Amino acid sequence: MAKSEAAVLCPHVMIFPLPLQGPVKCMLKLAEMLSLAGIRVTFLNSHHVQRRIPDSAAYLTTKYRNFRFQTLPDGLPDDNPRTGDQILNLLQSMEDVSQPLFRQILHSAATPVTCLIADGVFTFAARVAKDAGLPLLYFDTISPCGLWGLLSLPTLIQAGEVPFADEELDEVVGGMEGGVMRRRDLPSFCRIKDMKDPIIELVIKEAKHIPLAQGLIFNTFQHLDAPILSQMLSICPNIYAVGPLHAHLKTRLAADAASNSIWEEDKSCISWLHSQPPKSVIYVSIGSLAVMTRVQLYEIWHGLVNSGARFLWARRPGSVSGSEPDDEVPLDLLEGTKERGYVVSWVPQEEVLAHPSVGGFLTHSGWNSTLESIVAGKPMICWPFHADQQVNGRYVGEVWKLGLDMKDSCDRVVVEKMIRELMEVRKDFFLERAHAMAKLAHSSVGPGGSSSLDFDRLIQDIKMMNIPMNKIL
Ligand code: UDP
Repeated sequence: MAKSEAAVLCPHVMIFPLPLQGPVKCMLKLAEMLSLAGIRVTFLNSHHVQRRIPDSAAYLTTKYRNFRFQTLPDGLPDDNPRTGDQILNLLQSMEDVSQPLFRQILHSAATPVTCLIADGVFTFAARVAKDAGLPLLYFDTISPCGLWGLLSLPTLIQAGEVPFADEELDEVVGGMEGGVMRRRDLPSFCRIKDMKDPIIELVIKEAKHIPLAQGLIFNTFQHLDAPILSQMLSICPNIYAVGPLHAHLKTRLAADAASNSIWEEDKSCISWLHSQPPKSVIYVSIGSLAVMTRVQLYEIWHGLVNSGARFLWARRPGSVSGSEPDDEVPLDLLEGTKERGYVVSWVPQEEVLAHPSVGGFLTHSGWNSTLESIVAGKPMICWPFHADQQVNGRYVGEVWKLGLDMKDSCDRVVVEKMIRELMEVRKDFFLERAHAMAKLAHSSVGPGGSSSLDFDRLIQDIKMMNIPMNKIL
């Protein structure tokens, strides 16, 4: 059989995620679903991430004959913390160091690559795909509402909405989401004053590149995001909304999937949860990239203890800035935590959120965390840090009404009030809303559901993509 025919019979997708916990986790879910559908997958991972997911890597390559990893450097020194404030450095070093290697890997693939799926933030992928004559699908693993905010930046600048003064954060943004969005709800970079700031330039560049792809993949579902997805069609007429991916993969596997976690999960928290009453625990996490100050740590901590709620807190190493010693922790916090709290460094989050003892989630509103909470039917208190998180918090609080948006405030009195509101005063309202949305999320990924149909269409489209002329024979 000619090489070209073999390749057409077995499409080969190269997936290139932003090498951070959130994007890698969710791209691995997509990659596994493609493998399940018989598509050959090469997953390009940074050395740094690959070293930290040995179990998931072994699981995937053992289970699927057509799944392989290839690794390349991200260009940052090993001891770089790769936290949220390093994103710009990471992107720059990937452009300089990883991009040329990405080209080499693509061209030397033993089986010709027939389609590229890259993180939407990799503007260089459009150039690489064009040079190789390959179709490119961008997969932006942030929320569609967050991406919409990002794509709107050039228009917002032109309309004089951005930049704005710090005192104007509560002004409603004209022309967006029926008056729901205030300036404080725009993606975090909109607060930058200097329009020549490298982050602003990067975002404008991304906004120009997204429409160059043959399609856009989103980790969301129609019931949640129909209005924003239909707006998105004006930028790219070919959209695949295939999420929530973690629930989608689980449905297709009819089993639990690998966690793909880059930190070791402390499962002792599950035993602790077993001993707590139903819906009594608020779970707290700021994800894999955000860093809080010592002052914020104590405000949240006091708020938790003063609320009287039970709490499980995932406090990732490196997630609190400063180096003051822990022996300064006030006695009332230590006692309150001993009575009603449990603190670990990293939890199996999907399992935690699904646990019957968990009644709410105090979250930084990362998109994976938001979707995981939605699938588990757990209301949220949103305390966003950066990127799309500000937008997600607003959507959770005002558009979907699945919780409360605490953004821009970290005061023990407010924290206590919000926890009481979510876990006591309006508990039934929020649980009902969350339960209804969870049902819709599950039906979207079930047989005949919108995400399931979009994924089947994605598979058909990938199978139809021809290999590039310069690779034939
Ligand atoms: N996560 C986890 N254990 C924790 C905290 C977070 O497994 O203790 C996972 C969580 O399930 C989610 C990811 O880390 O899938 C965080 O991604 P998200 O998009 O929410 O935020 P980011 O870390 O990218 O800011």
